[in-house]
Amino acid sequence: MSLRGRLTCPPCASTFDVVTYRPESSDIPAIVLSDGQVMPKLGFGAYKVAGEQAEGIITKALELGYRSIDTASLYENEEEVGRAIRESGLPRDEVFVTTKLWNSDHGYDSAMRAFDASMKRLGLDRVDLYLIHWPLPATDLYVDTFRALQSLKRQGRVVSIGVSNFNRSHLERVIGETGEIPAVNQIELHPYFAQNELRAFHAANGIVTEAWSPLGRGAEFNDSVIIHLAEKLGRTPAQIILRWHMQLGNVAIPKSATPSRMAENLAVFDFELTGREMTQITTLDKGARQGGDPDTLDLDAPGAS
Ligand code: NAD
Repeated sequence: MSLRGRLTCPPCASTFDVVTYRPESSDIPAIVLSDGQVMPKLGFGAYKVAGEQAEGIITKALELGYRSIDTASLYENEEEVGRAIRESGLPRDEVFVTTKLWNSDHGYDSAMRAFDASMKRLGLDRVDLYLIHWPLPATDLYVDTFRALQSLKRQGRVVSIGVSNFNRSHLERVIGETGEIPAVNQIELHPYFAQNELRAFHAANGIVTEAWSPLGRGAEFNDSVIIHLAEKLGRTPAQIILRWHMQLGNVAIPKSATPSRMAENLAVFDFELTGREMTQITTLDKGARQGGDPDTLDLDAPGAS
């Protein structure tokens, strides 16, 4: 399913074409968001893909078959992501683009300006998913910031809106005060940090769970359970972990700048884990967070990415 048609924006008296990601153009399974848009279940994470190599790496990802790119204002590669997509020759509706609003841009007006700046750098007609990167509860502006995202959605400049690194309490407040449920929450999630409670809350509220650092940045490749399953199934540890994400119902956005690994990470749709194997991985959870804690992470804190 994909959204087609026109969307009117009463406050700005304009009408926009709404053409969104077309899942039938790719072999990567897609998930339907609560607003009806579809999103590839596996995408390419573009953190630390910067500088001169960035455009080439994104181009390679698209050549290998990735159809979803996760960037952010913070990653300083929106220009390269946009250029790689524009020059790929792929129709715009065959690539799903996510970007994120950085911590220094919280607040309604700042968020609107930050979006304009991201759009200018991307050079694309629209963003498919726009996320608030971190909630920054101490700053206490995430509800106003989300209202800006709602305006952008009404204006047809972004198709879906969501958040990243929001805990249950942050989500409850956004939902309670704006009346809108974020379509996606992008959170740290890998076998040693399985986020079972937050995933259950997402499921109960129709929020898609998107896993960042889905491979735990490699920290779990040497786990004996992962190695055992990889050997048994003739797959790599990365493939076992990504397959676990797919069967849990997560969206995952692994990052690699090595073409063979980028291809390996996409090749997870021709095998299946049994229920027992899924449980074996899920029980590895140690609550081992690698990144920042959303409740305490401050503006521009180092743990943010
Ligand atoms: P990841 O779990 O994707 O791991 C990346 C690391 O694993 C890299 O060092 C890479 O070289 C290695 N790797 C990848 N595939 C491999 C393979 N097949 N074999 C061996 N090694 C392999 O971690 P990440 O990069 O932190 O996260 C992925 C994406 O998530 C980022 O690029 C970014 O888009 C997003 N992200 C979002 C946030 C957020 O706050 N919203 C935070 C961090 C990351």
